Amino acid sequence: MTYQDAELGQVTVTVNPRARSIIMRPEVDGLRVTAFWGASLVLVKSTIEKFRPSLLKKQAALKERPQLTPEDVEKLRREAKAHLPRRVAELAHMHGFHYDRLTIRDSKTRWGSCSSRNTISLSLYLIQVPEHLQDYVILHELCHTVHHDHSPHFWALMDTVTDGKAHTLRHELHHYHTS
Ligand SMILES: [Zn+2]
Repeated sequence: MTYQDAELGQVTVTVNPRARSIIMRPEVDGLRVTAFWGASLVLVKSTIEKFRPSLLKKQAALKERPQLTPEDVEKLRREAKAHLPRRVAELAHMHGFHYDRLTIRDSKTRWGSCSSRNTISLSLYLIQVPEHLQDYVILHELCHTVHHDHSPHFWALMDTVTDGKAHTLRHELHHYHTS
């Protein structure tokens, strides 16, 4: 559902049965909220109120960032396609992962995903983050070919392939945005 907030703009609330908490993602002109199954709108709204000052601050920071032109996006897409498929193949080979195929998409909501059929999708914006964090995202999706969840088994495997640095890298990636 969506509703209009006087300060934040359009608020879009979606329910994800796999979500464990209420996740809020500020965008230039609105707010995306992912709620866990069963969360009431009252709870969603009170959570937004609790974080309103920091949400507005993040939104202001987004507005200051120069917006990419369609030409910029195409340039990034070309770079991403020239580099990421080779790196995915290398890392899969190195750690013995098997994936079906790779797609590179104009995704602003997530860095990557892995389908139940082991098709890996990467955001073309991934090409803008440092290489060790590109590797982190690629390894994250490759680990999903084995564990299609974020269970302790998944994170244990992530730690194996990142020399125990999975959580540090994950935290570091939070400093970057897709666009
Ligand atoms: Zn994941």
